[in-house]
Parts: sequence; C-alpha cells; structure tokens
Amino acid sequence: HQLPPAKQAVLDQIASGFKLSQTKLHEITQRFLEEYALGLSAYNHPLAMIPTYVTGVPDGSETGTFLALDLGGTNLRVCEIQLHGDKTFTLRQQKYKVSEALKTGEASALFDYLADSVDHFLTEISDSQISNEEALSLGLTFSFPVEQSAIDKGILLTWTKGFAARNAVGKDVVGLLQDAFDRKHLHVKCVALVNDTVGAMLSRAYASGDCMLGAIFGTGTNGAFAVKVEELTKLGNDPAVAKGGLMILNTEWGAFNNSRSVLPSTPFDQKVDRESINPTFQAFEKFISGLYLGEITRNLLLSLVDSVPSLLFSGLSTPTLNSHYGFDTAYMSAIENAKTAQEVKQVLVENLGFKLEAISDDDAAIVRWACETVATRGAYLSGCAVAATMIQTGHAQLGGGSGPEEKILKVGVDGSLAEHYPGFQDRVRQAIRLIVGEEVESRVEIAMAKDGSGVGAALCALQALKQA
Ligand code: ADP
Repeated sequence: HQLPPAKQAVLDQIASGFKLSQTKLHEITQRFLEEYALGLSAYNHPLAMIPTYVTGVPDGSETGTFLALDLGGTNLRVCEIQLHGDKTFTLRQQKYKVSEALKTGEASALFDYLADSVDHFLTEISDSQISNEEALSLGLTFSFPVEQSAIDKGILLTWTKGFAARNAVGKDVVGLLQDAFDRKHLHVKCVALVNDTVGAMLSRAYASGDCMLGAIFGTGTNGAFAVKVEELTKLGNDPAVAKGGLMILNTEWGAFNNSRSVLPSTPFDQKVDRESINPTFQAFEKFISGLYLGEITRNLLLSLVDSVPSLLFSGLSTPTLNSHYGFDTAYMSAIENAKTAQEVKQVLVENLGFKLEAISDDDAAIVRWACETVATRGAYLSGCAVAATMIQTGHAQLGGGSGPEEKILKVGVDGSLAEHYPGFQDRVRQAIRLIVGEEVESRVEIAMAKDGSGVGAALCALQALKQA
C-alpha cells in the first residue's frame, strides 16, 4: 500500500529514531559486555548477575521423579515430573487459585496453603508411591526477587505482582515452605529454589543435550547462562569457589543500561517509562517485553492521531486506545500476522472499538508499520543480549570471526513473545548476524524451552541432590 508522500515523510522521520544501525548494535553489545563484567566482579551493579549455586547443566540422560511448585504466575501450580533419561519426560499438574486474602494475609497461612496444595496433589492426582524412607524432592519456582545464598536458600527481598503477605520479606522462602510441610507431616523436602530463567536453561539442556543460554521473552525479559566460578570474582571466598567448575547466573538483564546511556530512547519510550510503576528501572525490558511493546506502539499511534494535520484515524481515537496499557502486545502480533488491510481493520474493530468505516486503508498500513517498527527494534535489542552472551562465554567475537569450535550454540527461550510474535526469531537472528557475523549466527539454534517452571524445577532439584 502506497502512502501519500507527505505522510510517508513523517513516518520515515519517526522510523529513523527506531532504526538500529550495525554500528549502534555493536555499541549496545559492547556496553552489555561492560555491564556483564561489572556484575561478575561486584554486587550492587545494574546487572545483578545473581549466583544461583546451580553448578551443572543436564544432558538429557537424567532420570527420576520430582515434584515442582510454581508460585508467582497467575496460578499456583503443583507438578510431578518423571524424567525418562532419553531427553523426554512426563508431566502431571494441577493448578490452584491463590485468594487475595492469602496473598495479603500472614505468610504462614500462605505457605500452609502451598503445603495443603501439595498434599492434595499427592493424594488425588499423583501416582507416585510415597515411601516411608525417602522424602520426595521438590523444586520451588518462586518468581519474586530473592537473594540466593545456596541452591536451597534464598531471602525474599520484596513481594511484587500483588502479593504482600506479612512476615515473609527478609526470610528464607525455602525454610518457610519446609516448615509448612513439616507442620503437616508431609514427606516432602524442598531441595531447590529455582528462578524461571534458570529453569528454561535447564529444561532446554535436558531436551537437547546442552544449552548456552536460557532466555525469557514474555511479560518481562531475562536471561541465564553458565560461567566458570573463577570468573565470578564477587563470590570472594565463598565455598563454591574452591569447588571450581561452572555456575549458572541469573543475569536480571531487564535492568541492562538503566542509565539509558546507550539505549535508543524515543519520546514514546520516555513516556512509557515516566508513566510506569518503576520509572528509571528495568530500562532494557521496557524496549523489549510484552508488557511494554503495545504501550510504546500506543504512544506512537496517538502522536499520529494528534499531529496537525492528523495522520491517523482522521484525528479520532477510542476509549480503549486512550487508556494506559490499552493496546496489548498480542494485538501487534495479530496485526503483523494479517494478510490484508481488511484483516488489520478487523483487529482494530474487535479489540479497540473502532467502527470499520472509520478506518482507511492508509490507517491500516500506518498501524501495521508502527507495530513492525516497534517490534523489530525490540527483537534487535533482544539479539544484542543473545550476542553479548555468546561473546561473554567465548563462542563468538564482536564484529565477526569464528569462535574456537564449530559447536551448535543452543538458546532455550520461553514466553509469549518468543512463541507467538511473527518474525521474532528471524529478527533476533538478523541482529545476531550483524553483531557476530554469519558463520556464528548460522550455528545458533533457538528453540522453545518446554515448561521451564515445571521441568526446570525438577532438574534443579535433581542437580541439588547431586551437589549435596
Ligand atoms: P509471563 O511472561 O507472564 O509468564 P507470557 O509469556 O504469556 O507470560 O507473556 C505475557 C505477555 O505476552 C503479555 O505482556 C502479553 O501482552 C504478551 N502476549 C500474549 N500473547 C501474545 C501474542 N500472541 N503475541 C505477542 N505477545 C503476546
């Protein structure tokens, strides 16, 4: 669809603010490496690079039956995972509702409820034989900020996502859960505390034999990868250092470049940040993840509606398009998936309350362009994070050239954006190619990490038993 030159000129001007040249991609990746280095050497840097005390990566030969408990998503989930030792597994699960009263009451009541849910699962759902001698091992996926000091120990720093249970902040969450199991005389032992990104890495490693990076591109974004413990100099004389080997790090890369010195902020991004619940924090995440892409696009669309003369929807908006976070990233997916202008219009009619006759073909083309512009920049920035990790782990060089070996570089991803956004992976790969060259990019394998919070937690529990 050909737009009138005057409109096209305005869009080109805006697009130039979103475009990431090869030089800019290199600059961002270089900064990523610098922040990685800072986070490895000391605490309290923007990139937390949290040591997980997980010191092994599965290869698919692991066997056993484990329980997993997943708290922090929409529901509480209890799973039983059987690892078959041939890269496959069977998973049985049950979801449980967590009431507002439990989320905001006494922590002991919340943790009692977690134990009751596991008890219900074991009696009604599971087909495990509960033996009297050996306790069942459980991995806890706990998606809240935690300061971990062992594979089975971590202090809750603060609640997020609507949770506010009293007397939990500052305490070891594994201890709180184990006390609840013990109060109910459940023969279950929580042996591992698992971050969902680490779970993604472990689950992909199990399914494919190896994994260089686990990454989440969903509501938020984060990554985990393994380093040699001697590179983790901030651990000082922690006993883990003497043991040597590898340790998986939870990078918390959503906070990359909170200073915004290198991130390509536009006025639309500044507005998203200013009006967010955490201004100046999670800067990188705000360019990339599902929570924000729709909101950036909404700001961009409204600026076109409001320009004089108006460039979009004849200067009209709708209550949904006017409301904060009213334009879900899933609509962007649907719009980029549309084959015709008619289909784009349909998405706008169904989700944003526009009348069909109020949307011109120019409008449909402009909305599609806006989605593509914002999503492509996000995917390119995601590519910087992946490429920086490849360089950090010695598998690639900034600017190109082969790594030391001809290995397949496996990346396990999870989250709706990675799974559903059209062209997400292609765009990530384009950026990787521009940063580390074609040869290395051709050896990157990006695949979904299946059920990181279930299987990943089981694998972490197994790893904990091995390490004990
Ligand atoms: P979480 O990260 O919270 O575990 P998801 O991975 O499902 O959950 O991510 C949810 C985010 O993904 C939301 O911000 C939502 O806007 C976005 N999203 C949901 N469906 C799609 C889709 N089809 N395409 C792109 N983004 C989507």
